[in-house]
Amino acid sequence: MSSSHTVDPISALRAGDAGQTDRALEILSTVFGYDSFRGEQSAIIEQVASGGDAVVLMPTGGGKSLCYQIPALLREGTGIVVSPLIALMADQVAALEGVGIRAAYLNSTLDYQEAQAVEQQLLAGELDLLYMAPERLVLPRTQDLLRRAQLALFAIDEAHCVSQWGHDFRPDYLGLSVLAEAFPTVPRVALTATATESTHRELTERLRMQDAKHFVSSFDRPNIQYRIEPKASPREQLLRLITSEHEGESGIVYCLSRKSVETTAQWLADRGIPALPYHAGLDARVRQDHQERFLRAEGLIMVATIAFGMGIDKPDVRFVAHLDLPKSIEGYYQETGRAGRDGQPSTAWMAYGLGDVVSQRKFIDAGDGDEQFKRNARSHLDAMLALCETVSCRRVQLLRYFGQESEPCGNCDTCLQPPQTWDATVAAQKLLSALIRLDRERGQKFGSGQVIEVLLGRENERSTQSRHAELSVWGIGGELSEKEWRTTLRQLLARGIVEAEGDYGVLVPGPQAGPVLRGEVTVELAVDRAPAKASRSRPGRGGGGGSSRAAEGLETAERERFEALRAWRTSVAREKQIPPYMVFSDATLVAIVQLQPRSVAELGSVSGVGAKKLAEYGDGILEALPG
Ligand code: ADP
Ligand code: ZN
Repeated sequence: MSSSHTVDPISALRAGDAGQTDRALEILSTVFGYDSFRGEQSAIIEQVASGGDAVVLMPTGGGKSLCYQIPALLREGTGIVVSPLIALMADQVAALEGVGIRAAYLNSTLDYQEAQAVEQQLLAGELDLLYMAPERLVLPRTQDLLRRAQLALFAIDEAHCVSQWGHDFRPDYLGLSVLAEAFPTVPRVALTATATESTHRELTERLRMQDAKHFVSSFDRPNIQYRIEPKASPREQLLRLITSEHEGESGIVYCLSRKSVETTAQWLADRGIPALPYHAGLDARVRQDHQERFLRAEGLIMVATIAFGMGIDKPDVRFVAHLDLPKSIEGYYQETGRAGRDGQPSTAWMAYGLGDVVSQRKFIDAGDGDEQFKRNARSHLDAMLALCETVSCRRVQLLRYFGQESEPCGNCDTCLQPPQTWDATVAAQKLLSALIRLDRERGQKFGSGQVIEVLLGRENERSTQSRHAELSVWGIGGELSEKEWRTTLRQLLARGIVEAEGDYGVLVPGPQAGPVLRGEVTVELAVDRAPAKASRSRPGRGGGGGSSRAAEGLETAERERFEALRAWRTSVAREKQIPPYMVFSDATLVAIVQLQPRSVAELGSVSGVGAKKLAEYGDGILEALPG
């Protein structure tokens, strides 16, 4: 799984006389090809390399991997990486081998012989990093194996999975609490991109990391543009987003149900947009195949349930779209965080409507789980709704949810097109009165459709039967159209002024209704903007669809060289059966094009070109670069 000639430079670095910080920097540059650490990377590496524990909260794309990879290289022995994502381990290991690190994984995809070979490598001290899933790690047999090996550290990736309060609980993670006692001298680093205070607290406790140093980065993802628009015809809206802003680019579309995943993927494919479905109901082989195609192809769209995406580190996902309301802000932020890991402009887009609010509430009420569980789910949903209905900066609200204060960002829909608001106090009172009258005088509760008919005074079978026209609230809402009432109702639901109740989602006055009815508060609501008005101000793109956002600023001659390098990269990736971005990122290709290196040595100075890749690809690149 690893070739011995690549070992030497790294063991030389490990053994070097230089101070730890210098050696870390040297590894960063010779192995990974980068010249400086980002954010808190250096401090985290220092902490773990010198044997301390660390809890690392860093947004997706922040650079968490180096925080355990480099300490594992600096310390004697093997770094054990715990990850729930078996399907991605092969790629992760391939990427590490690509830069000359001795890595392997132990999971159920290996047969007995293969697993034996890896165990031997571990015991012989021939591995820098070893990946495994938590359920494997806690087996007595594995514990025994690890006790016989020399361990550099434990890295617990996706550490939020240990939190039951959070959105991604994996029971197997609970077993990791044994590590503190079983291996008291081995430093542990827990990493996650989910960062609410409650999740942070819970993972610290469950993983017994009370004595660790905590590193909490800014959670902002400035290159992601957040947009949430009213749902009219969601697929058409999605199609418009793709064709007007993301033609030929990679993206992820999230849907709630398996069925809508299937139909949406088909619908896109019928319109000439390359799209594949992904959900837990598909055969494991099909899932793996679709995931691999998504990682390797450029410009493919994955239509998926939330079963897809954790640990996917494809850097050039240009948009993440939600066709249904996520259940929590944590989930939403993780999912949208999969866009733009490479730091290039990207879009997080969502369509959301009245139906989403009603069905999610219903889903929670009808679901099993105790009252505490439901209360949790409701408060998650309420926070999500507040984000959808906010009239101020979405980013400010998102970051505040993670405990960080910020200024309006200028790169979300509400900043770019501040929504108009109107005084909806009277409308809210009329609606509440209608609910109260229908209940008191007829003993009836209805869903949104019939309530709006009453407000508009529109006769139908049911209203005739129940003599609704005799009620004082009949037709009192004529100043708004049906569509405006739906918008209003959606926002009143989101604010708890109205509630949807029971299996049928019938409407009742919510906990916030009292002050509104008594006229003690005014209700300021947003006017829905027209859907899918692209607000991105994008520079015109040269070249055709499928060109990289990273290459946007290039001149014609440079673009030609860039395309030549891309073609070279595609052929190398195909030959090695790895995703193109594992050969080099777009950003690295652009840097090469701009530098126009004439020698292998010059090429080595480009960010992202480490020693191993330079030796492996240097000549090929120089040959592929036209004139
Ligand atoms: P995370 O796991 O936090 O989502 P990754 O570890 O995958 O993020 O890093 C995201 C991207 O940033 C990767 O392409 C990685 O190579 C790159 N990266 C990380 N640290 C640095 C650095 N110090 N300089 C340049 N690029 C970096
Ligand atoms: Zn903003």
